Amino acid sequence: MEDTPDGGKDETMADDIDQLTRRYRALAARLSDLGFISPGHLAHRYTYCGKPGCRCQASPPRPHGPYYQLTRKIAGKTITRRLNDAQAARYAEWIANQRELRATIAEMEAISGQAAELILRKDTTTT
Ligand SMILES: [Zn+2]
Repeated sequence: MEDTPDGGKDETMADDIDQLTRRYRALAARLSDLGFISPGHLAHRYTYCGKPGCRCQASPPRPHGPYYQLTRKIAGKTITRRLNDAQAARYAEWIANQRELRATIAEMEAISGQAAELILRKDTTTT
């Protein structure tokens, strides 16, 4: 287990606090460049308003759209919002940023956990 290349796999138990610190710092640096974030997800969908005589009620039905629809959960309530193409492109980026933020934090947490074990072990041997 000595000559294992640093492949960046999370499960590998590094035995080196310096190496863990380097990986941790690299992740923290990635966060400092992160743009705005947003929860939720985007869907591209057609709608049927249900008004009698509308084209969406015709036979065959011709639905409205397609629209971009943003769905978010705010304080336990699901909120939907209609967006145009430009707005949807921005939200797609912010949603991707949030996903990256979560993944990065999870990785930092895993590295911290490994480091904590090594640091505690050192403390036990010195006291
Ligand atoms: Zn309609």
